[in-house]
This record gives sequence, structure tokens and C-alpha cells, in this order.
Amino acid sequence: MQFSQLGLLPELLRAISEKGYSKTTAIQEKAIPAALTNQDVMASAQTGTGKTAAFVLPLLQQLTENRNNNKAQVRVLIITPTRELAAQIQDSVLTYGKYLQIKSVVVFGGVKINPQIHQLRRGTDILVATPGRLLDLVQQKVINLSKVSTLVLDEADRMLDMGFIPDIKRIQALIPATKRTLLFSATFSNEIRKLARSMLNKPLEIDVAPRNTTIETVSQKIHPVDKNTKSSLLIHLIKKQSWRQVLVFTRTKHGANRLVKALTKAGIRSDAIHGNKTQGARTRALAAFKNHETDILVATDIAARGIDIIQLPLVVNFDLPNVAEDYVHRIGRTGRAGIKGSAVSLVSADEIKQLRDIERCIKMHLQRHEIEGFEPSQHLAESRSFSSPAPARINRSNNKARPRNRSEKNRSQLKTEHHSQSSQANSNGQSSTPVNHSRNRIRSFSPKPSTQRSRPSQAARSRVS
Ligand code: AMP
Repeated sequence: MQFSQLGLLPELLRAISEKGYSKTTAIQEKAIPAALTNQDVMASAQTGTGKTAAFVLPLLQQLTENRNNNKAQVRVLIITPTRELAAQIQDSVLTYGKYLQIKSVVVFGGVKINPQIHQLRRGTDILVATPGRLLDLVQQKVINLSKVSTLVLDEADRMLDMGFIPDIKRIQALIPATKRTLLFSATFSNEIRKLARSMLNKPLEIDVAPRNTTIETVSQKIHPVDKNTKSSLLIHLIKKQSWRQVLVFTRTKHGANRLVKALTKAGIRSDAIHGNKTQGARTRALAAFKNHETDILVATDIAARGIDIIQLPLVVNFDLPNVAEDYVHRIGRTGRAGIKGSAVSLVSADEIKQLRDIERCIKMHLQRHEIEGFEPSQHLAESRSFSSPAPARINRSNNKARPRNRSEKNRSQLKTEHHSQSSQANSNGQSSTPVNHSRNRIRSFSPKPSTQRSRPSQAARSRVS
């Protein structure tokens, strides 16, 4: 659909066209008309689907149409879980509202509060905030929320995971009961539905993505590998396949720091972004990555939540997340706004439970692909079938026998450099891994006779491979 068909103000259409958008995304097509009607809305949209514009555009329009000439007061309150996301929403407000006279302020923790107080005292129509800092400012009596007519809860599922719901309820009690609420969530879990029932009034439900399916434009595969060789494998892949602009996820902050150390030692330009870093350090790391001064950004789930980098080609899961839905969020960092992306996961034997949970959550098996020289000595157990007990097929990177010891591994690793070209496209966004879920299920899942289902001995595998 064209944006001009939505009845948006010419000033908004001009800003959209300058941004280079030609057509609406699915969530925009449905949520913009709904938000313009003043109804409560509950929308499920995967990350990267254009959901920020889906609420920012109609809100800018309504604020402009209902302008009064008094000092600006907070009429739209947007609450979001992370600092990065808050900053990005504010960027969108400024971008789309550049030809309108709407004031906006963003507040989040981890930075000095006084400049925010100073900005708020000058008045604002839109306030974008993370919950903790918002409550601090309310306590200091800097913010008056009595004129809020629209509350936006962005990434509500993540706010729930992060334990922000009591804060949200406290904030809700400070704003007029007559306000309307727009709730956005990547997934609609039962808890989100419960939250929506308690906070929304007969919401219009918009669900543009099937529940817990991964974005169609992202091709996905896993490399089975031993835990203690994951860093070497990652370094090997980055160098061999000349990976640039890769977002790598680790489960812990220490894991992220350790990995950056190993990458730096190997001469790879990288930085980490996680909750133990100051806001300044996080902003600098993100800016350096976006400007291509670093090639690899290592992040934990929470810190990465708000990262929006257009045309991010590849996401690597160095560790699988403990919560299966985080996998969906992680890989949603690539394949954004219709652009193709790849997601590669390094999976060790102890992560089989997480892998099975993820495969159940996304309802497909991830294609396995062992890298020569890094074949795991600890066997990664088979995936569980959704309908039959057949295992996912292991797809070797070539037909060489498995090396028996480290020196043999290193030798074969050198040989592997030679065939890098062919697998480069595969792992750098143009993977042949099918994008279509039903096709993927068929290809990555090859039922074998029951005699072949258990793991073959090393000798047998050497013969087979
Ligand atoms: P979001 O889901 O809001 O984080 O948006 C993801 C990315 O899509 C952002 O980089 C937006 O600038 C971009 N985007 C939003 N709407 C459109 C559109 N209609 N066409 C192309 N890109 C868009």
C-alpha cells in the first residue's frame, strides 16, 4: 500500500518520502488506520517490521490536528524497555516529524538526569521513556502525566521479561483513565494477553506475523562445535569468509568481554555492548559499528534489543539463548524491512535442550553444517521431530574424514581455506538454506532408516564422509 492512501498529513508524507520508503509494511498498513481512530490497539509484529513508524506516524498526525497554543504538555507517553530502543524511537519521532511543530523528549537511565530535567521543564508533547528513569523523574515532580491521552507500550513482551510490569502499573495509575493504549509485542504469550486484558479497553487486535515464526527473509543454520573451540571457529569463519557487520550474541556479559578479547587478539575489529557498559560506551560502540570502524559487535540479549542497523547481513549466536523466544528476537536483527539476512548458530553438545526448545518454538529444524577442522568431539544430540523420531541430517562442509587430533585438525583447517569461496555466499546472506518454512522442514530433516539414527562410530563416520 502507498502511504498516500492512509490519509496522512502532507508534512508526514514528505518526511516518509525523504526517508526513501516506497510502500507501507504489513504492520503499518493495519496499525496506522487503527491508531488514527483512537481505538486501543494490541499489535504483534516481529522486530524489523517497521512497527515504530506504525505508531509514531499516526500519533504525530493526531497531536498536530489537536494542537493547542499553550505550553506543551505530555500528551503521548511511549514506554520502552531499553535505552537504545528509546533513543531510536526518539530518532524516528524527529525524522518523521521534521516538518511538524511537535516537541519530543527522550529520557532513560545510565546518563545524567539534570539535562533531561532541563529539557522537560521546557515542555514536550511526546515523551519517550524507559520505566525506571520515568518514575525517578515523576518522583522528583519534574513530569506531569495528567494530560496523557495516549500511552504506547513498546516491546511489551520484553518489558515483562525484564520485570518492568509493576513499574508500568505504577505509571498507569498516574495517567488519566480515559487515555487510550497501544501495545506492541513481538509475540503474544499468555502473560501478554493477561497484561493486555488488564490495561486495554476492547483492543483491536493486529497480528501480522504468525506466532513465534522467524522472519521469512532470514536463512538459518547451525554449526555443531565443541564449547571450547567456539572462539576459534568464529575467528576462522570471520577471516575465511571476510565477514563484516556481524552482530554476535553471547548469553552473558563476561562471555561477551571474553569473546571481544579473543577477537581483538586475532586482529579482528570488535567491541561489546552489554548492561555493564556505561550508556556512553554503548552508544560509542554502536556508532563505531554502524560507521564500519568495527566489524563485529558482540552483544547480550537485553543490550541488543533496541539495535536497528539497516542491512545487517548476519547474526551469529555464539551461545544459544536460554529463552527460545529470544532466538526470534536475535535473528530479527537481520533480514529487516524485507532485506535478506542470515543467522548462524554455534551449538555445543550441552546446548541441545535450548536447540530443541528453539526448534519447537519456530516449528522447524535448523540445518546442521559441520565445519572441517572444527567437528565436535562431544556429539550434539539429534533434534526432536515434531511428527516422527527422525534426526536432523548433518551436512558436512566437505567430504573429508574427521581429523583425529588437534594437529590433524589444524592441518585440515588450512586446507579448508581453499574452499572458502563456495561457502562464503552460503554464510553471508545468500544461503541456500531455504527461507520458506515448509521447504526448510523438508530439506533439513531427512528421515533415515532406524539403523542409521544413532551416532556412527568415528571410523564409520570417516567411511561415510
Ligand atoms: P522497526 O521495526 O520500527 O525497528 O523498523 C525497522 C527498519 O525498517 C527501520 O530501519 C526503519 O527505518 C525501516 N522501515 C520502516 N518502515 C519502512 C518502510 N515502509 N519501508 C522501508 N523501510 C522501512
